[in-house]
Amino acid sequence: SDSHFPVPISPSHVDYSLHYPEYFPPSDQANNPKKIQFADIGCGFGGLLISLSTLFPETLMIGMELRDKVTEYVKERVLALRAANPGQYHNVSVVRTNSMKYIPNYFEKAQLTKMFFLFPDPHFKEKNHRRRVISPHLLDEYAYALEVGGIIYTITDVEELGDWMKSCLENHPMFEALTEEELEGDPCVKLLGTATEEGQKVARNGGQTYRAVYRRTALSDQT
Ligand code: SAM
Repeated sequence: SDSHFPVPISPSHVDYSLHYPEYFPPSDQANNPKKIQFADIGCGFGGLLISLSTLFPETLMIGMELRDKVTEYVKERVLALRAANPGQYHNVSVVRTNSMKYIPNYFEKAQLTKMFFLFPDPHFKEKNHRRRVISPHLLDEYAYALEVGGIIYTITDVEELGDWMKSCLENHPMFEALTEEELEGDPCVKLLGTATEEGQKVARNGGQTYRAVYRRTALSDQT
């Protein structure tokens, strides 16, 4: 249960020196204005973050993962990559948490530039739809954490879930779809179906995928 992992009481209580020691030597944490900008929600084994880390070497990014063992695996994976590639992978980290409850504890208003939801659990039954990581209510929270112009990336191999995520985003007043040209020009879009362990499994099995990529707009009153 949630009681087994600590939760920061606010974003200013997130200890960046634990996650990104190269950027935040413990003595100097207060003087570094750098903040996490990418969040991979339900990051699983971390394949997306590993790809993003070298693609955006100056951007701090974090995976949020509910399963303890999987989170530990990603931690070890990042430490091993740091050791094997001097100077690299210092911008990536992972935290064990329930993203459906604790996003506001980790990120300030408009802090994030990108959020990723790759192959989330489908929760097929109607009564379990409230457990889906994309929902009208949670999109309010994501809109809060994202800067105007920030982007939400979603992909799934479950058609019904793909329709659901797309319709939640389409019907939300603070999100608009990227155009085809924008999708083609965005290097992150290419990673959605290829970089994660789940995406690779789906691709190996020749499965179809359903993508929805939306931008946080300025339509709200920003309160
Ligand atoms: N994104 C990864 C990928 O594409 O390989 C993992 C996909 S896996 C099907 C879904 C992941 O979301 C699982 O690792 C699960 O533990 C995690 N998850 C489910 N609910 C979560 C929650 N509320 N908070 C954080 N992670 C969650």
